Amino acid sequence: MNWKKNWLKYCNKPVQRKTMPKKTIVVDYQACDPKQCENGICKAALECERKVLTQEAPYEMPDNNAAMCLSCALCMQACPRGAIHVM
Ligand code: SF4
Ligand code: SF4
Repeated sequence: MNWKKNWLKYCNKPVQRKTMPKKTIVVDYQACDPKQCENGICKAALECERKVLTQEAPYEMPDNNAAMCLSCALCMQACPRGAIHVM
């Protein structure tokens, strides 16, 4: 009868739900070229209201604080070089 007890214990264990990993952005720094953006200003960083992408100065590559990203893809659409990917 021990197996029955163990089985019931197993069945009553709370189910641990696994969630899908959150999507976020990745900057392809091989493709990014701020010189191609007007006045060296990152268009993708301008588009992001949450300031996930930040650019310290014109003509610098943007930094990415991906943990804050909502994966709305607005920055991806704004980048003329296709350097931003949501995955
Ligand atoms: S808009 Fe695209 S190419 Fe321009 S600086 Fe930003 S990430 Fe780089
Ligand atoms: S996907 Fe949306 S929230 Fe994330 S960096 Fe781009 S614009 Fe910002």
